[in-house]
Amino acid sequence: MGTGEEKNKLFDLIIVGGGPAGLTAGLYGGRARLRTVLLEGALVGGQMTTTDEIDNYPGFPEGVTGSELTRLMAEQARSFDCEIISEMAIEVEAEGETKTVRTGQSRYQGRALILCPGTEYRKMGIPGEKEFTGRGVSYCATCDAAFFKDRKIVVVGGGDSALTEALFLRKFAGEITIIHRRDTLRAERIYQEKAFAEPRINFLWDTVVEEICGNQTVERVKVRNVKTNETRDIQTEGVFMFIGVIPKTGFLNGVVELDEWGYIVTNDSCRTSVEGVFAAGDARKSFLKQIATAVGDGATAAFAAEKYLEEKDK
Ligand code: NDP
Repeated sequence: MGTGEEKNKLFDLIIVGGGPAGLTAGLYGGRARLRTVLLEGALVGGQMTTTDEIDNYPGFPEGVTGSELTRLMAEQARSFDCEIISEMAIEVEAEGETKTVRTGQSRYQGRALILCPGTEYRKMGIPGEKEFTGRGVSYCATCDAAFFKDRKIVVVGGGDSALTEALFLRKFAGEITIIHRRDTLRAERIYQEKAFAEPRINFLWDTVVEEICGNQTVERVKVRNVKTNETRDIQTEGVFMFIGVIPKTGFLNGVVELDEWGYIVTNDSCRTSVEGVFAAGDARKSFLKQIATAVGDGATAAFAAEKYLEEKDK
């Protein structure tokens, strides 16, 4: 943690968010000899930390756990003097030469800013979801899988998250039903093949969950087939929701340009609508959301910030 005096100093570069994009920006900022501070209010590593096995990040042919990749990325950023501080950014003032980021505890000022706030799992907003969160409803398989040993559970969604998390959950749960609203999956082919080959994973197609029911904990879900309109109850003790993500950019509303979904709009150099402010990672409007692309973004944003500061110093 920085001292009060350190917090009053002017940094060259403030990075908001400590997922793969932020940690890479920190590494590049440090290597460019910029006084760099990274603010991460939740877990360093972001959503990567809750991923059990990452098998599509180059350099790890046997796969790597999210926590190990986080540890390595953070260690590398720190080794180039990027200071990592556990505080949540809640307010940003981006206009003008000096950028200010307020956290619950303090205020940081910098000459350039890289925003990497990432995304969070989308909620369904159906009856029972809120009430049973933590009592059978979960958005994190690595956090909660162990509670469902040999139990019957459902996973909602048809994207990469739903399938990779279901494949992880099969190590614990007795039986897994993936409930998807269409009859084709959005997930990568390789995950589809693995899930189809797993005898303890079955699929319920063209089906949506309309209510989560139980007493103290989840006991069943009410589902509806969207083609026939037929409804029925399915007995289950766990409901894992993976129906997509939303960017964590609420605190940036009116600060930089966001698209209609809340993603930060940038140009190819990761520059936002405000001079000296850059964005990287899953919260940036982009074609692909992967650790590999977040890392590329982080490097691009830090390099663009370095060039911006060089211009300012001329
Ligand atoms: P996606 O947006 O890719 O998929 C969301 C899934 O949920 C879709 O199948 C969608 O259905 C379904 N869905 C959305 N809203 C509802 C709803 N209201 N009711 C029922 N179903 C719904 O999100 P993911 O979280 O899977 O992935 C987010 C990003 O992270 C993606 O870019 C993904 O590629 C990436 N990722 C990559 C991984 C990897 O490479 N290993 C692992 C995990 C995520 P429909 O298909 O009909 O739209």
